[in-house]
Amino acid sequence: MPEKNIIIAIDGHSSCGKSTLAKDLATTLNFTYIDTGAMYRAITLKCLQTNVNIEDEAALQNVLIHTSISYDHILDTLQLLLDGQPVDDLIRLPEVAHWVSPVARIPVVRRFLVDIQRKTGNAFQRVIMDGRDIGTVVFPDAAIKLFVTADLNIRARRRYDELVSKGLDISYEDVKNNLEQRDLIDSTREDSPLKKADDAILIDTTFHSINSQLEEALRIVKAKLLTI
Ligand code: C5P
Repeated sequence: MPEKNIIIAIDGHSSCGKSTLAKDLATTLNFTYIDTGAMYRAITLKCLQTNVNIEDEAALQNVLIHTSISYDHILDTLQLLLDGQPVDDLIRLPEVAHWVSPVARIPVVRRFLVDIQRKTGNAFQRVIMDGRDIGTVVFPDAAIKLFVTADLNIRARRRYDELVSKGLDISYEDVKNNLEQRDLIDSTREDSPLKKADDAILIDTTFHSINSQLEEALRIVKAKLLTI
């Protein structure tokens, strides 16, 4: 019998450091990292590019039928492709950040992406997948589940510094409002809301440096891996 793959699910609030943590854990432990937020951002970008009315389910479904989300190995990292093209920079633009949660709460979008996430997750032997509903909906049987959070002001400051360092002209207030809005929509939507799975371990990164949050997560994950 082929060995069952190992999934580590990392969920949590927007800009709490979970992607950095997930990537660092994946590199240290030799797992494949999959960023599901990037998938929702890519679909949002496609909606903006095609100018589809997201309230019109049939039109949205038609856009999804003609959309491909795939991955390619570029310099050792798994890079997301939208219709065959890398979109890493475009999906981080403020307009995409503004629309992503309204798009992500639509059930046809979630069905489309959850299916891709399960297939992608099952295609690798050791996977770290981050998002909002990985431990609750996408892989409820994941071997290890972490739920990451941090104080809103700290998250907004970190995200603002990151966007400014990339040359974006944006205000701290706008960044904070976007995070607050996304968390509200993500945690109150009917379909797979953001919430901590009962068996997820909480990591609060408010007072953690990137190194110390990695150390804490490594301690938890290594101990769990020994029990699998
Ligand atoms: O992780 P990131 O902040 O890039 O995710 C962008 C948005 O995608 C989230 O605010 C949320 O609306 C949506 N998302 C989701 N479910 C996931 C991952 C992301 O609804 N598994």
